[in-house]
Amino acid sequence: MELYNTLSRSIENFKPIDENLVRMYTCGPTVYNYAHIGNLRMYIHEDILEKTLRYVGYNVKRVMNITDVGHLESDSDEGEDKMLKGAKRENKTVWEIAQYYTDAFFKDIVKLNIKKADVIAKATDYINEYIEFIKTLEQKGFTYVANGNVYFDITKVENYTKLSKLDLDTLQTASRDEVTEDLHKKNPQDFVLWFTKSKFENQAMKWESPWGIGYPGWHIECSVISLKNLGEQMDIHCGGVDHIPVHHTNEIAQTESYTGKQWVKYWWHGEFLLDNEGKMSKSSGEFLTLSLLEKKGFNPLSYRYFILNSHYRKQLAFTFDSLKSAENAYFKLKSRVKTVADLQNGTKEEITEAVNKYKNDFKSHIENDLNTANAITVLYELLKADDLNSSEKLYLVEDFEKVLSLSLLNFEEENKNDSVDDQEVKYIEEMIQKRTEAKKNKNFALADSIRNELLEKGIVLEDTRQGVNWKIMN
Ligand code: AMP
Ligand code: ZN
Repeated sequence: MELYNTLSRSIENFKPIDENLVRMYTCGPTVYNYAHIGNLRMYIHEDILEKTLRYVGYNVKRVMNITDVGHLESDSDEGEDKMLKGAKRENKTVWEIAQYYTDAFFKDIVKLNIKKADVIAKATDYINEYIEFIKTLEQKGFTYVANGNVYFDITKVENYTKLSKLDLDTLQTASRDEVTEDLHKKNPQDFVLWFTKSKFENQAMKWESPWGIGYPGWHIECSVISLKNLGEQMDIHCGGVDHIPVHHTNEIAQTESYTGKQWVKYWWHGEFLLDNEGKMSKSSGEFLTLSLLEKKGFNPLSYRYFILNSHYRKQLAFTFDSLKSAENAYFKLKSRVKTVADLQNGTKEEITEAVNKYKNDFKSHIENDLNTANAITVLYELLKADDLNSSEKLYLVEDFEKVLSLSLLNFEEENKNDSVDDQEVKYIEEMIQKRTEAKKNKNFALADSIRNELLEKGIVLEDTRQGVNWKIMN
């Protein structure tokens, strides 16, 4: 299998450290809000990576963290605390916010057929381990305390920028203008391992530590969680390209200083999904979530299909028009699979040469740095192939589904109204009730305005003899 490695900036032949097990770590979500569809793009590609590894015969152990502890807006320890911001916005405790959005994240990934990581680790479950980790770094001389915070001194490591390949001056100017620089740092790239003093005196998540009551810096969770669950070395560490210059760079600095060994063999980074304003962000205002796509009548798997048609290392622009085309193609693909399924007679065939040819084609694309778009082309080819019978075609679809996970063999009719949550159903039913009463009282103006209000939200009413039906417009 060939895989691009950010560390060498080249495609490499993949060879795990231990033949029998691929150790894989994926940076997980920060749970102060819903995941946006850009975040979800990343998790879809990581899912493809894991399933491809399994498809080509490896055992995989995959670990993912959940960032449920204060994490600042800027990777360089500046800006506002995201969890606290979420709590203020929704009038909830930070713990409630973390739980709510962790659950929401798992609901999203189920809808997108993303396999849950083998180990899911909440950042707040590892506080004692962070303290032990920092104590070791302190003993080894990599840290200093200033203004109550424990910092990592980046001049103590040999090749701090080996992943980003940036020079330190560039990194310094790359930090955002609007955030104030922490004047207690010896070097601008030094980062906090443990905070006791912050701008947020009302920080809700705090723990005792040898340096005072406080909370961990945010890079530390990925290092410690991976060390605990995957050992001192791992094969693949994944995340978005935005993590290269700071988060992953700091993870490497502290982990390798702790173990004295090279930590990660392959660094995997996914490119961004862009909206019409550029980089997507969930810190500001309204943003694109999976539920929003569903409210607009899209099937979550149309989004998965849309994503799989582009390469993970290329930026991708999102528009509703392109999602609509992807959905049309996806539904057509499903109906072609259904036609084949209806024709097949259920007899299990020997695996013929023709079957192997398609299987090998598919495998060669997917193991070529995860070329999902070409892999899907093989699927189209086999569905119209003359050299395969229906049972063979179905066998191949089932086989490719181990990686693609597009529910191509799930023929149950999709009920569009399933995508609406309980609260919305309640709202729609109440509006219908009001409209019925308005009509009874001959207040047709009110009845019409209710119908129009719903229509603006994409909800269409249909009067039938049995009562009022409603559906969500596409
Ligand atoms: P967060 O929950 O903000 O920590 O982000 C979760 C993951 O989504 C990280 O791996 C980010 O690199 C990635 N990510 C953030 N924004 C985007 C985007 N617009 N497109 C693709 N991935 C993104
Ligand atoms: Zn991480």
